[in-house]
Amino acid sequence: MSVSKELMNVLACPKCKGDVAENGMFINCGKCKLSYPVLDKTVPDMLIEDAWPLSKARKAGFRHTLKL
Ligand SMILES: [Zn+2]
Repeated sequence: MSVSKELMNVLACPKCKGDVAENGMFINCGKCKLSYPVLDKTVPDMLIEDAWPLSKARKAGFRHTLKL
C-alpha cells in the first residue's frame, strides 16, 4: 500500500464513480475492469484515457514503468 489511506478513501472510479482498490502499482475498478496507474508510487492517474484494461495490468503483475 503506497497511496495514503486518506486519499484512497476519497478516490472513486471516474467512469462509474464506484469504489476502487489498490493492487501493486495500480488502482483498480473491478466493475469497469480498468486499472489506473499510480505514478511515482503516490500519485494516482485517474484519467479514463490513461487507464489500462484490468487484464493487461494483471498480466504485467500490476507493475508499470510510467513516470510523472
Ligand atoms: Zn469503474
